[in-house]
Amino acid sequence: MWKRIWSDPVWSKVISAAIIAVAAGVGTYLLDWWPTIGSYFAKGLAFAGASSLVQNWFLAVIGLLALPTVVVLVALMWQLVGTGKPEAPNWEAYVSDVFLGLRWRWHYNGSTMSDLTTFCPHCDYQVFPANASAYNVIDRIAFSCDSCRAELGTFDESFHSLENKARRFAQQKIRTRSWNAKKVA
Ligand SMILES: [Zn+2]
Repeated sequence: MWKRIWSDPVWSKVISAAIIAVAAGVGTYLLDWWPTIGSYFAKGLAFAGASSLVQNWFLAVIGLLALPTVVVLVALMWQLVGTGKPEAPNWEAYVSDVFLGLRWRWHYNGSTMSDLTTFCPHCDYQVFPANASAYNVIDRIAFSCDSCRAELGTFDESFHSLENKARRFAQQKIRTRSWNAKKVA
């Protein structure tokens, strides 16, 4: 839920604006500027409350001058909250993820994932499947890392089938938009 709100471009803007506002409030509080701000505010209120004698045409002109400001403010709010369509995530930036205990990397050939390679999820050293079956007719492959010596799992299937699974996991994440380019790079 939070993840979806955060990745939504409109909500993330609103949330960051709120965070900045709170941070600015805390900052001024820590710097002890509130008494100064308060006295300016009181002076401002006193000035605003005092009436001045101006002719009505002057008030009309001031009112007209204020109109563009109101229009611009409303337009800005509208853009920020109202009509912002969620941007389509750039799935081409999604080129790596951890599936089945291995880190996978790939390229795109058009919209097809290609050149899938496997890496150790602990130290990022490239790893290859080793045949772990005593019999040729049974598919069993194992991965172990030559760099950090981690045992990365044994699979009762061919590498082709494992690669196909990883590919489908990635495609699922692209469809559900649940991948995060920053996290998986
Ligand atoms: Zn390793």
